[in-house]
Amino acid sequence: MEDEYTRERALEMLGVTGGALEELYRHADVVRKNHMGDDVYIRGIIEFSNICVNDCLYCGIRASNRKVGRYVMSPDEILAIAGTMGRFRQTTVVLQSGETPGMADEKLGVLIRRIKEATGLAVTVSVGNRPLETYRYWRECGMDRYLLRFETSDAALFARLHPGSSLDDRLRCLEHLRSLGVQTGSGFMIGLPGETVGVLADNILLCRRLDLDMIGIGPFIPHPDTPLCGTKNAYHNDPDMFFRALATLRIFNPDAHIPATTAFDAVFPGEGRNLALKRGANVFMPNITPVRYKKEYFLYPGKPSVDEEPEECTTAAIVRIESLGRRVGRGPGHSFKKREQPGQK
Ligand code: SAM
Repeated sequence: MEDEYTRERALEMLGVTGGALEELYRHADVVRKNHMGDDVYIRGIIEFSNICVNDCLYCGIRASNRKVGRYVMSPDEILAIAGTMGRFRQTTVVLQSGETPGMADEKLGVLIRRIKEATGLAVTVSVGNRPLETYRYWRECGMDRYLLRFETSDAALFARLHPGSSLDDRLRCLEHLRSLGVQTGSGFMIGLPGETVGVLADNILLCRRLDLDMIGIGPFIPHPDTPLCGTKNAYHNDPDMFFRALATLRIFNPDAHIPATTAFDAVFPGEGRNLALKRGANVFMPNITPVRYKKEYFLYPGKPSVDEEPEECTTAAIVRIESLGRRVGRGPGHSFKKREQPGQK
């Protein structure tokens, strides 16, 4: 019944406090359990390059930030990490980087192929807006999934934050990915400067409308070396809003994979991602980038476990999941959506 999923209902959920807030969290947890079960999928993320041609106003690795020491990991280094993941009960590798359109597309395709052949892991890519042909090439190389947040559903705010790019461009990329049968993930930041609760509700509704396989959301955190350094998160006086948003997102998107994202731990050190898992999330993405690179993939302050090497991060993830009475997911952890996935490997 589509009229359960109205803007009014989302706004109502985003406004609850006290006992009603606890009830919202319980409801989200029940929806998660009924639709996704108790398994928590671990998807290790390798931040393989911080080189970026874009100048997104919020992002620490934006092109204009001269304080960043730029790096690209070699394919062999990435492959070596991917080769250890199975031992740590990870079935998906997420390859994420800044954006260098056209410069390393073929290299990435070859890497995807090598990872698939050597490990059989599911491969998720997250490297931004690209032409349909590039997505098709990576798909042919074996790419299973793609993560590309729309960041905000407010087109004017999107344009202000992303010089030279539009919300329409981003949504077109998501459409292209879907048309290729790639499992498609998107999402948004919560509390960008200028965001209203109405926009937040629209973000959640847009996720539903896009019928996403995966949805990643997390608080916006101002970075000192970006143009948004002097700003505050729109909900800095009401951090419960981050979890209201997550719980509402789960209720509106019962069968999407929703990760407990790192930014929750940056705002609520040591417990943010645990709380997220109890309030709607069912995926955990430990950062398995080697420490020497991780320090330079500094998107926002307070990013957790920057001093921990890949194995420590994954072991800690397993401990967290089991301490919550949940199980580590087995199998590839593909989309739960019942749709044709053309060419699924
Ligand atoms: N370049 C690719 C892209 O934009 O999809 C992948 C890397 S990008 C750095 C990954 C995500 O980091 C973005 O989608 C954005 O939501 C998040 N991010 C960047 N800066 C942030 C900040 N200051 N606070 C919270 N999240 C941030």
